[in-house]
Amino acid sequence: MGIKETLKGIGYSIGNLKNKPATYLYPDKPLPVQEKSRGMLSLDLEGCIGCELCQKICPADAITMMKIDQNKAHFKANARGEAPAVDFAKCIFCGLCVDICPPNVLHHTHKYDISTNRKDDLFYDPFRLNEVYNEEYKPLNLKSRNEEEKPSEPSTEQGKN
Ligand code: SF4
Ligand code: SF4
Repeated sequence: MGIKETLKGIGYSIGNLKNKPATYLYPDKPLPVQEKSRGMLSLDLEGCIGCELCQKICPADAITMMKIDQNKAHFKANARGEAPAVDFAKCIFCGLCVDICPPNVLHHTHKYDISTNRKDDLFYDPFRLNEVYNEEYKPLNLKSRNEEEKPSEPSTEQGKN
């Protein structure tokens, strides 16, 4: 490499000092995701009616219906006493189950980092999916609702006559 190329390289490096880093401190800091990204699924178990549509539409055969405890008062709407379990080792995150769910209780979250060296850990029964709902989806949903309800800033243009 000639002196010209070396100087060009140094100049390029110096020019980049003013730019923000192009890399992320992953996994210490989570990567930013798009608002509508299709991350891990979550289930609001209380509202599931056990209709099995999510299982029937799943193209990856990732959903199995499992018995849940019907004695608990909050599963009264679920006559079959069944709710979906998802095997994330098979799920292709297509979102078809989310779209078809009549009471809208299946949701994608922004959680994407679910890799593990134990395949069995990727099987989420309805109760584990409900934990994901409480820990991942609910806070996300509340945050976006709060942002929608924020009163708009008064325009600085108003009153300038
Ligand atoms: S996101 Fe798609 S592949 Fe995954 S469980 Fe739902 S329907 Fe099946
Ligand atoms: S999650 Fe939705 S589509 Fe699946 S069984 Fe429950 S209500 Fe039906």
